[in-house]
Amino acid sequence: MIRTEIDLQRQGKQQGYLRVPYSHNLGGWANVMIPMTLIAHGTGPTVLVLGGNHGDEYQGQIAIMKLARAISQEQVHGRLILIPSLNFPAALASTRLSPIDGMNLNRAFPGDAEGSVTSQIAHYLTHELFPIADAVIDIHSGGRSMEFVPCSHMHVVSDPMQRQAMLDAMLAWNTEFCFLYTDIAGTGLLPVEAENQGKTVVTTELGGGEAIPANVHRIAHDGLVNVLRHLGCSMAQL
Ligand SMILES: [Zn+2]
Repeated sequence: MIRTEIDLQRQGKQQGYLRVPYSHNLGGWANVMIPMTLIAHGTGPTVLVLGGNHGDEYQGQIAIMKLARAISQEQVHGRLILIPSLNFPAALASTRLSPIDGMNLNRAFPGDAEGSVTSQIAHYLTHELFPIADAVIDIHSGGRSMEFVPCSHMHVVSDPMQRQAMLDAMLAWNTEFCFLYTDIAGTGLLPVEAENQGKTVVTTELGGGEAIPANVHRIAHDGLVNVLRHLGCSMAQL
């Protein structure tokens, strides 16, 4: 049921929204409007960049918003899709989980087209955005409850070619620390769904504790630009 005025096939830079139907006491036909930027120029990979999967993790949200403003059409080779605050209701509330349905978006995949707002967001990514992406970048941090040493990380996927591509992309973030992991904390994760579709998935834990020191912001911004350069989607010096 999610709609957008953004044409996923059009060349150029577009700014718009994913509109998720949300009927509530003050708006019978209301929508949750999730900001999205799409920049397409020439040939190259499609890279989907996501922040705010958890609403209280600001590092990715800020770095992606900054990139969305700064990058021009000419600086993109292929297609770059930027969603700074994926779980937008949670981002507005500065919470990990959605205040609308109490759900953790990062446990909601593959989603449900007729489910609650969080389930619909997951379903839209699974069926509309992941299939057209070559690489998916999902920027996390510790949020309100944890603080990580800034690092890029990855699941240990079974396919050796995909694993190598993810390893190379993870290292391109150029953090001092990286870690490789297998899941112990539930199912329905965004990166697992993207990996199951064969994508090169890059994830991070960039600090946390509801604070963003300048050095961590630089790691978020510079690392994201580095990975886009590594993937061949942008050669910009931003
Ligand atoms: Zn997170």
